[in-house]
Amino acid sequence: MMTDLKSFRDVWTRVPTGSHARRFLVNAIWGDDRFCPHRGSLNPRRLRGASVRAGPYQCAEKECRSQFTVTTKTPLHATKLDLRIWIAAMFLVLTSSNGISSVVMARVLGVTQKTAWKLGHAIREMIDVRRWRTRGPGSSSTLSRP
Ligand SMILES: [Zn+2]
Repeated sequence: MMTDLKSFRDVWTRVPTGSHARRFLVNAIWGDDRFCPHRGSLNPRRLRGASVRAGPYQCAEKECRSQFTVTTKTPLHATKLDLRIWIAAMFLVLTSSNGISSVVMARVLGVTQKTAWKLGHAIREMIDVRRWRTRGPGSSSTLSRP
C-alpha cells in the first residue's frame, strides 16, 4: 500500500523494477478488490495461465468478458514514463498535505513541468475514482464513472 512508503528510500527499495511497480500498483489502486474498468464489475477472475499477480484479469460478467490489468482505462495505461516515476509522484502527492506544485514535482522527479502537471492531475483523479468506488457516488462531484 502507498501508506507503507515513508520515504523515497522506501520507494526505491520496495519498487526496484518495473514489474515490482506493477504489483505495487495492484495493491495501491485496487487493494483487495478487482474492478473491471469497463462496467465496474467487482467479480472478475484472473486469466488462466497468467503468471504474474498483476493480471491480466477477465471480467466474469456475461455481457462484458473484457480483459484488463490494473492500468487499463487509467491514466497509467500506455504511459511512456517509468511506472516507478508514477509511484514516486503518487508518494509526493499523498505526502504533501498542502499539495505539491508541478514546478517542485518536476525538479524532484527529473521530468518536465508539463509532465509533472499531468502526473499530478492524473493522480488526483485516480484518488477520486478510488474514493468513488469505495464510498459510492456523491463523494465526488466530477466523475460519472465507472
Ligand atoms: Zn466487465
